[in-house]
Order: sequence, then structure tokens, then C-alpha cells
Amino acid sequence: MTMVRQTRQRQAVIEVLRESREHPDAAWIHSRVRELLPSVSLGTVYRTLDALVRDGVVVTIERAGQATRYDYKRAGEDHHHAVCRSCGAIFDVEAGMLPTLPAAALPPGFQVTDVRLEFMGICPECAAQGEAAG
Ligand SMILES: [Zn+2]
Ligand SMILES: [Zn+2]
Repeated sequence: MTMVRQTRQRQAVIEVLRESREHPDAAWIHSRVRELLPSVSLGTVYRTLDALVRDGVVVTIERAGQATRYDYKRAGEDHHHAVCRSCGAIFDVEAGMLPTLPAAALPPGFQVTDVRLEFMGICPECAAQGEAAG
């Protein structure tokens, strides 16, 4: 029974993340999952997210002082993130558009299984507001 329930929760969390391009936090995911499975607690959502991250199905975007955001890792659609320091907006950056990391920069024999890049900066909207204010 427990296994079945866990599987349904896992499916529901994946479903919610797959349909979102907003890089939501756990509280937002919880509110959506409850539409599918009304009895699910926030703690269960956290545990399910942790397991999905461990399994490489979901990636996290962490920023100091703010709630961790989550993103579903779409197969064959590897991407990185650009994060606005001002408003916290998260943008997808297509991995295919970036040069690959030179192997010479890595310790000899190091096998890369996953590459994650985060670009920190100011989004166009915040930049425009800054210019208007200044
Ligand atoms: Zn911004
Ligand atoms: Zn993303």
C-alpha cells in the first residue's frame, strides 16, 4: 500500500513540474499536487522532491536566503539557468547553445556525468527599471 501511495505522489509531483515552466518552489508545487491528491502534506512533497533530485529526475536551483526552486529535467532537452539577482526570475538557457567545457580544465581521468551552469545577473525588465529610476 505504502509503495502505491508513494508512486502516486511521485507521479503527481512530476506531473505538476512537467507542466510548469515557472521553476516553482515546494509550497507552490504542494498547492498544485493537492488538486490531484488532496491529502498530501508539504512534508511529503519535500521528501518526494528530495528523492526525485537524488534520482536525477528533478534539478534544484538554489539561491541564498530564498526557497529552493525546482525544475523537471526533460529528456533530450538539457538546459542551464540564468537567475536575476534583483527579482529572482529564472530563465532557461539551452545547453546546445553553449560551448562544451574543455576537458583540459578537469582533473585527469575525471568523468563528467552532468553539467550545471548558473548565470547570475539582471533581467531585461529589472535593467529597464533601474535605468528608469536612475
Ligand atoms: Zn529581474
Ligand atoms: Zn529550467
